[in-house]
Amino acid sequence: MDNFFTEFKKNKSLKENDFDLIKKAYDFAEEAHSGQKRASGEPYFIHCLETALILNSLKLDAKTIAAGILHDVVDDCGILPVKIEKEFGKEIRFFVESVSKLGNIKYRGFEGKVENLRRMLLATAKDIRVIIIKLADRLHNMRTLEFLSEVKQKRISKETLEIYAPIASRLGIGKIKGELEDLAFPYLYPEEYKWLISMMPSRYEERLNYLKKVKPVIEREFKKERINYFEIDYRAKHYYSLYKKLEKFNMNFDEIYDLTALRIIVNDVSDCYRILGILHKFWKPLPGKIKDFIALPKPNGYQSIHTTVFCLDGQIVEFQIRTKKMHEEAEWGIAAHWAYSELDKPEKGVKLDSGKFSWVKQLGQWQVGISQSKEFLDSLRIDFFKNQIFVFTPKGEVIDLPEGSTPVDFAYKIHSDIGDKCAAAKVNNKIAKLNSKLKHGDRVEIMTQKNKKPSPSWLEFVKTSQARSRIKHALGIK
Ligand code: MN
Repeated sequence: MDNFFTEFKKNKSLKENDFDLIKKAYDFAEEAHSGQKRASGEPYFIHCLETALILNSLKLDAKTIAAGILHDVVDDCGILPVKIEKEFGKEIRFFVESVSKLGNIKYRGFEGKVENLRRMLLATAKDIRVIIIKLADRLHNMRTLEFLSEVKQKRISKETLEIYAPIASRLGIGKIKGELEDLAFPYLYPEEYKWLISMMPSRYEERLNYLKKVKPVIEREFKKERINYFEIDYRAKHYYSLYKKLEKFNMNFDEIYDLTALRIIVNDVSDCYRILGILHKFWKPLPGKIKDFIALPKPNGYQSIHTTVFCLDGQIVEFQIRTKKMHEEAEWGIAAHWAYSELDKPEKGVKLDSGKFSWVKQLGQWQVGISQSKEFLDSLRIDFFKNQIFVFTPKGEVIDLPEGSTPVDFAYKIHSDIGDKCAAAKVNNKIAKLNSKLKHGDRVEIMTQKNKKPSPSWLEFVKTSQARSRIKHALGIK
């Protein structure tokens, strides 16, 4: 499995001792799964490695990758979580155990109430990395779905389309969302898929040949105007999203202008707008088709400028213009944020903080929307959500608290020391009073002060018994 490790060497966010951890997980899981086979006849362990490779391509950290290798040892090998903790520590145990828990939440019974299930998965996961491991696991299962029975193929594809692809989309991981949908499409809608495929090749090739003529024309102009760009490439629309779009336009291909698009990737934001100007100088834009997702990002954080123009020979072409960072975020979503925060390379002209946690905000709003719907509360089978809210740490960890909790409750939930030294709080980037009530989806940040002690007045508003007893303890009250 040498090429397995070569892949990891390409991941620059991994350090030398990270490879030791990955190697250890590798040996442990290989031993645990020995003799097990998948439906394809392959050794089961291959699935664990493929899952880890997907996580690696998302540039996740070593612990997440190691947990990816280990993700099935509890359910499929009967390894006890405590054993994982002994070998790999608390965090990896938490990841592996949580992924198993997610696997045990059954889709059956949630039909028609998929929002509930999505929410439940997020709440159970508690950490976004758990969800991402699950997505990687699902992606590899979808890639190898051909070996299962037709009944299973349909059930798993439906679940993928209704649950996992939307979660990937919410996390902004366009690449995984698109692949999951395209893998599920032929199993769920075989006739429609066949039709689409039969329509595609000639159109697709025709388009590519045409775009190949357009490319040098714009390259020449960019040179004249001294614009540096990383690359200009063609992007083909994913099948499933194309099909969805066709449905809106009576299956008429002529209405779809972005079957293929030219994507221009540049250094900074000002270049994006300069390029838009150059394109419009040459080719008339279609009215109503200029979309500035840089100034107004999509809810999941997507940024780019789209414009559709009457191009060479009067043909209609969509252009997408974005910076390299925007491009990576569009493909890798939350994972790209991690990669960037580690490398810490702010770009000129981009306010890093404004959009940085947009996915967290979005996730929060999503949960708010769901929790407010009466249908959701009515159909709830498990009570533990009812008086519970979910808020986020600045890193995106999900923290559950009883309704009416305050930043002080939050601080004590993170750590008793943070509670004791809690001096101020920010909720969604704004300073908030320590006694303010937190809401679903809030992002909470606690500022601590050395030598700070809890105030007796906190006892009047804290909600959790944990906070109450810690405050009393710190104040010496019995
Ligand atoms: Mn698995």
